Amino acid sequence: MIDIGINLAHRRFEKDLPQVIERAFQEGVELLVVTGTSLSSSQKALQISQQHGLVCTAGIHPHEARTHTPEIHHKLESLLQHPEVVAVGECGLDFDRNFSRPEDQERCFAAQLELAIQHQLPLFTHERAAHQKFLEMLKSAGAQLPSTVVHCFTGNTQQLRAYLDLGCWIGITGWITDLKRGQDLREALKYLPLDRLLVETDAPFLTPKNLPFRTDRNEPAYLPLVVREIARLLKKPETEIARITHQNAEQFFRLDWN
Ligand SMILES: [Zn+2]
Repeated sequence: MIDIGINLAHRRFEKDLPQVIERAFQEGVELLVVTGTSLSSSQKALQISQQHGLVCTAGIHPHEARTHTPEIHHKLESLLQHPEVVAVGECGLDFDRNFSRPEDQERCFAAQLELAIQHQLPLFTHERAAHQKFLEMLKSAGAQLPSTVVHCFTGNTQQLRAYLDLGCWIGITGWITDLKRGQDLREALKYLPLDRLLVETDAPFLTPKNLPFRTDRNEPAYLPLVVREIARLLKKPETEIARITHQNAEQFFRLDWN
């Protein structure tokens, strides 16, 4: 299994990072793609990847869009030359909470779309409450659009189809185990072709609801629970979902150098 979205640079993993990574390996998670969400978090994600033999993304999350200046952009771009950096992102639009103004978010996302195109790197995206505008921006990137994953997809069947039509890949988190909030997603999953499916924990957030004990922090070691629920909903063996999503992640992030 490969966890394609894990925020190991988050301060909540500061104290016991080696143990968190080790527990994931013990549970059969073979590789973690560490998410970068700002310049400093991307730098940290790279450092963690180099130390622990992982890979990472480099980008600016829509919440952090207001920090995007030409100078920051230049520094972000310089991270892309490292072989551990396998995608541009996390980037996109989040109009749910608007921690950055929508116009800043659009500017910041457009700049990172451009980076991914220039450097021909996969794109790791986040969209919340911004489906139409997000779709519009992906569409305007057109044929140049690199392989794109909509990470932590939580939308409905119609939104899923719109992303699939654009050739996007879809990242599924523990949201799929949430019987209340995840209802639309659980229905939409039936329409997701297996060759577009990627799995992730998005830890420390979104602890799977099928975890048999209580915790206030999600971990990459719980990725098998996401795989289990997908397998259950699709009536397929867990091993098959694990194998296919692993291959998909290798293909998406072009991990054959590894
Ligand atoms: Zn996200």
